This record gives sequence, C-alpha cells and structure tokens, in this order.
Amino acid sequence: MNNLNSTRLLLIAPHNSYRIAPYLRAATSLGVTVTIASSGEHSLISVINQGLKIDFSNPNKALSEIITAAKQTPFDAILGSDDMSVALAASAAKALGLSHNPPNAAHLARRKDLARTCLKTAGVAVPDHCRIELNQPLVAQLTELNYPCVLKPLAMSGSRGVIRVNNTEQAQKAIPRILGILREVEVPEESDAILAESFISGNEVAYEGLLSNGELTTLALFDKPDPLNGPFFEESYYISPSRLPSRIQKQVKSTVAAACHAYGLQQGPVHAECRIDDKGKVWVVEVAARTIGGECARLVELVTGQALETLVIAQLLDIPLPLSKFKGGAGVLMIPIPCAGILRRIEGTVEARAVPGIEELVISVRDGHELKPLPEGSSYLGFIYAVADSAAEAESALRKAHAHLKIITAPLFKLEPVLK
Ligand code: ADP
Repeated sequence: MNNLNSTRLLLIAPHNSYRIAPYLRAATSLGVTVTIASSGEHSLISVINQGLKIDFSNPNKALSEIITAAKQTPFDAILGSDDMSVALAASAAKALGLSHNPPNAAHLARRKDLARTCLKTAGVAVPDHCRIELNQPLVAQLTELNYPCVLKPLAMSGSRGVIRVNNTEQAQKAIPRILGILREVEVPEESDAILAESFISGNEVAYEGLLSNGELTTLALFDKPDPLNGPFFEESYYISPSRLPSRIQKQVKSTVAAACHAYGLQQGPVHAECRIDDKGKVWVVEVAARTIGGECARLVELVTGQALETLVIAQLLDIPLPLSKFKGGAGVLMIPIPCAGILRRIEGTVEARAVPGIEELVISVRDGHELKPLPEGSSYLGFIYAVADSAAEAESALRKAHAHLKIITAPLFKLEPVLK
C-alpha cells in the first residue's frame, strides 16, 4: 500500500466515544495521520488532549474552529465518528471543499422525527408517527395515540429512552422516565418533544453498508434471533450470515438504499435496523450515517476480511480495498444486564469460555460497579463472541455460553440528601 503518512484525517468524536480507538487503529494500518476534534479538554488520552478542542453544543463555533485549524494544516478528509458528530463533519467537509455528505442528509439521519417524515414522503415504509410536544398539555396528546406504540427521544442511540407502551396509562408512566434521560441532551430543540410511533411487530435485522457516490454496498446483515417486543429493547444476539430468504435480504438492502437516497446520503458508513412483518414487508426502524456500535463491528471484519473502520477511512480517501467472502457463521451476544443493582461477581465464565465455538468472552463492568438497565442505562455487561461452521451453530454456542453465566448483584440504595 502507498505510504499515506502525509494524508491527514480529521476525526470528529465525542471525547468518550468507543469508536475513537478502532478508527485510530484503522488509520494507523492505512498509514494515515489523524487529528481528533473533541470536547475532551482535560482528557487523559493524549491523542484527544493534543487534538482540536470543540464545543458540540455550539456547532457554528465548532465549525469555524475546524475551518481555522484546516487553514493552518489542511485535512484531506473529515469523518464524524458518532451520530452527534456526523452532521458537523459533513458541514466542515463541505466548507473545506472535501468529499462529504450533504449536511442536511446527515442531520436527517440523526433526527428521528425529521427522518420519519422524510422517509414517509419518499414512500419508504416507516411506522406512523407524531411528535409529543412537551411544552403542551400531555394527556390530550397521549389519548390520541394509536396503541401499542413506541415512545423515544428525538436523537439518541443504543435504545436509550425507547419504551413500548400499550395504553395511555403506560404512556403517562413512561414520559417522566424519558424526561429524566432527556436532561442529558445538549441540543435544546432535541429535548422539546418525544417521538411516538406505531409498534411494528416482526423479526429484526441489523444492516451494515458503505455508500460510495450514492451507491450502497452491503458489508453484513445480522439476524437478531431473540424477539424484541419491549417494553425496552436491549441489544442481545447478532448473528451472521442472515438466515432470511435471499428475497427478503434483497428487500432489506433496497429499502435501506431507498432511505439513504431519500435523506440524500452519498457516502460513508450506513447502519440500519429493519423489521420484517408477518407479510414479509420490510420496515425501516432506523437508518444512521455511522458504523454499527459495540462489538458487532468485529463481526463485520470477520465477514469482509477488513476492519469496518478501515473500510470507512479507505472509502473516504478513495483507497481500493479487497473484500473477502466468509464461509462460516459468527455471532456476538451483548450480555444483557439482568437487573439494576451493584455487580458483586459473575460466575461461570470459565465454563462459558470452554463452550466450543466461543472465541472470546469479555466482561466490561467491574465488580462493585452500578448496573443500570435500559431505558436509562447505556451499556451492557460485556460480550461473548462465537465463530462456527454455520450461523445456527454460532448462535447455539452463544446461548450455551450465556446459560453458564450467573450474574450476582446486590441491591442499590440511593440516599437522597434531606434539605432543611
Ligand atoms: P436507537 O437509535 O436508540 O437504537 P431506535 O429507534 O433504533 O433507537 O430503537 C431501538 C430499538 O427499539 C429498535 O432496534 C427496535 O427493536 C425497537 N423499536 C424502535 N421503534 C420501534 C417501532 N416503531 N416498532 C417496533 N420496534 C421498535
């Protein structure tokens, strides 16, 4: 491969993004120099600390700081790592004449309410939806909804604050929980409303692809074999290759491509979640202009022979990379958090690791730490990763390994200060 050391990439990333490390590894493997633009002023991670400091809550100022920095040392490409940075990356790349997605397309891909309206207008199958305005009387708005429906924040990820409700009473109980989560939202207009949409029942798949000049290439399609019926939607099993009929797989791809086209996305990673109802119709749950989260990216690497982040950077810099074809089956289980509390210990890890097909088991929460399940929580306990001869065997290995785990927790008692 050519030496690209003089090629400079600006990676715009929240300071705590777990995507920073894989993007840095990918850039190193391609010989590309990375500058990180982030809010981590006091970060202990030198590459963040020495990078460009920006304030995500003030996108105009952040944009002008990036442009000023680029005048001193130009960038060859700009990439947003997460939902919250892709629109800024698109605006910065546009301002600097670099290859980019239209900023509005990136914005649409992040804002669930705008995205739904855009896709519906374009004839892409999305659930019926409406906004619940939080500064207007709630009861009347909740009474008018068609149940069951799903309530969710306008712009969050990882299923945080996503709650299925079956009637007005449940909706009234769910709203204060979502309001609590919305306190973290930095962009004011994203906490003015909640999205309500009809619940689509059916199997769910996760789609990972890469856009190049508007052309979508599939990298991987994952089945999610456990039913996701709510009230909360915790990630669990992702299995590849998909065992859906190829006709449905093609329909998933064409539906995701239609959504990208409707948004106006042109390039870069695409992560989508779709549901297939009992009539075989494919519905868009989400199409985002970023990579898949967590450990699933590893599955993409196994399936394509290239790290997902390497593919993303290579696409942006127009570096051709060969993709290989994977013949077996693979899967990952994001180990669910069984209940709220303090993690005491996890038993059975030795037995779980010994299950044939299990490649790795990682527990990412330390003993003594608080476990916070969805909808408020934003993490899982760890992951199990399996590779086998077929998708069914990989899934079975993960289920056997998970059955060995015994998660011991202690209750958490929070002391509220009493003000006199
Ligand atoms: P996030 O972006 O936080 O992951 P999503 O809107 O993708 O939020 O929803 C998270 C999960 O909730 C989805 O993967 C799906 O399982 C479930 N879900 C969300 N909306 C619906 C819906 N309208 N019908 C059925 N399930 C849904």
